[in-house]
Amino acid sequence: MKIVLASGNKGKIKEFEKLMPNDEVVAFKEILGDIEIIEDKDSFKGNAIKKAQTIYDELINKNYKDVIVISDDSGITVPVLNNEPGIYSARYAGENASDEDNNNKMIKNLKAQNIERTPAYYTACIAIIYQGEVYTVHGWMHGDVTSKPVGTEGFGYDPLFIPKGFDETLGVLPHEVKKEFSHRSSALKLAKKVLDVII
Ligand code: IMP
Repeated sequence: MKIVLASGNKGKIKEFEKLMPNDEVVAFKEILGDIEIIEDKDSFKGNAIKKAQTIYDELINKNYKDVIVISDDSGITVPVLNNEPGIYSARYAGENASDEDNNNKMIKNLKAQNIERTPAYYTACIAIIYQGEVYTVHGWMHGDVTSKPVGTEGFGYDPLFIPKGFDETLGVLPHEVKKEFSHRSSALKLAKKVLDVII
């Protein structure tokens, strides 16, 4: 199955390719080039739909038929930080912030409260558009964030995130752990069920 991924995030694209080994996953940029999508909705679901719809409309305008577009809007929520950064995870430290900038801001805010480890969770909303119809599913991964980053595996906040049931961060745990338990893989399992029904 050929699926166009409405994301420019290299970490996510890599994970989708690993999670969908039997499908041809193409990042939208390879077909459409650069397109800026402003994430201005107030939920993961709203932003996921906006991303998928923007790319779907562009592809239809260019006469791509029967195309399947999927998008992912995701982020981390830390209850003790007033549920920050949530939908603002990619730009926690400002527009165009790097993963390192965002992690440093999280560490600074945790340290300001003398917190070394506190509960947190990742959320992913995946939107699917096929033949003009929109479908959405969600997945979550619970655990803790630590103010002491470890490792370089994964992307984003992974060096700070210790999944429930583990003692190390996703920065050091083998990627099989994320493949099995992540918010993205849980959402994708549901997305595959949707695709099985609609295609
Ligand atoms: P989006 O592209 O607006 O959905 O931004 C998602 C942001 O949330 C990323 O830039 C990361 O900062 C964070 N994020 C989402 N999923 C993950 C993950 O699996 N690991 C680490 N950080 C993530």
